[in-house]
Amino acid sequence: MGALRERFWELPLAALTQPEWEALCDGCGRCCLHKVEFEETGEIEHTNVACRLLDTETARCTDYKHRKAFVPDCLRLTLRIVDRINWLPPTCAYRLRADGKPLPRWHYLLTGDREDVIRAGISVAGRVIGEDRAGPLEHHVVDWGDDEDLS
Ligand code: SF4
Repeated sequence: MGALRERFWELPLAALTQPEWEALCDGCGRCCLHKVEFEETGEIEHTNVACRLLDTETARCTDYKHRKAFVPDCLRLTLRIVDRINWLPPTCAYRLRADGKPLPRWHYLLTGDREDVIRAGISVAGRVIGEDRAGPLEHHVVDWGDDEDLS
């Protein structure tokens, strides 16, 4: 990882360098879960089914660098599209910063501990099932509590 500026996470997203952009992710793993989109309504429901590359115990991608080769439709979150991804959790650091909001107090950039995302109950670590074992996604629709205050 390249040099990161002091308190870079307070800068506008557009001012971040690539390493800073990458470092903003809290590692919750929520964006690595399958969603179900209902054709009639266009509504999106969340599931507890993980992408095949996600380590379900740590909620980390097992091959982040080469993930596109294995999962071509893996979303690459960029400044251009961050506003348009309506299924990102309200706690997602990119979503918060795009809205001009501060990082939540449990974010590792503030606490210095990457495990705090787990302690705060935000991470999906240990709470998901791999896609190879899951069966129909419709059987795994879950409410991740996005309406609660998780800041
Ligand atoms: S939802 Fe946002 S903060 Fe969480 S893993 Fe995905 S990009 Fe990172």
